Amino acid sequence: MPIAVYPGSFDPVTKGHLDIIKRASRMFDKLIVAVLINSAKQPLFTTEERVEMLRECCKDMPNVEVKSFDGLTVNFAKANHATVMVRGLRAVTDFENEIQLAQTNHALMPGIETVFLATSIKWSYLSSTVVREAAHYGHDVSKFVTPNVEAALKEKQREHQV
Ligand code: ADP
Repeated sequence: MPIAVYPGSFDPVTKGHLDIIKRASRMFDKLIVAVLINSAKQPLFTTEERVEMLRECCKDMPNVEVKSFDGLTVNFAKANHATVMVRGLRAVTDFENEIQLAQTNHALMPGIETVFLATSIKWSYLSSTVVREAAHYGHDVSKFVTPNVEAALKEKQREHQV
């Protein structure tokens, strides 16, 4: 079974992401969750914080590794001997972007295939943006994220208030 990479911003990781990670970890020998160091977007959490939260969430999945990366995802995949890229598809709105990304990646590196996992209906509305917004306005986000992420969001709130 090949090695797969699941790339994303994970700012922060949600239960939707974790559902994909759990399912993908059963499909491959090894799954590398790759946190993008994205200088274009201004993330709420630092790369180290995003990696740390994911590691805590994935600690019971022995074949899941969390790493950060900069640059093109296909280069990261190749350097890590991965031949599959996993992405989650929530709704038609994701489709246009995701198909373009998958086709570009295939043109850049034909040896790497993108596999789409359909998001569980339970999490199809969920995004990191929604979680950040809800937490910012003081809503309970325990339905959307794990307790360590919820605590980290509260801590960010406190930092921003002082
Ligand atoms: P990106 O900035 O690359 O879209 P995200 O962290 O937002 O990074 O998402 C990473 C991957 O997880 C993407 O494939 C995205 O479609 C998927 N994803 C995001 N939210 C969910 C969710 N609620 N359920 C399943 N997959 C999701």
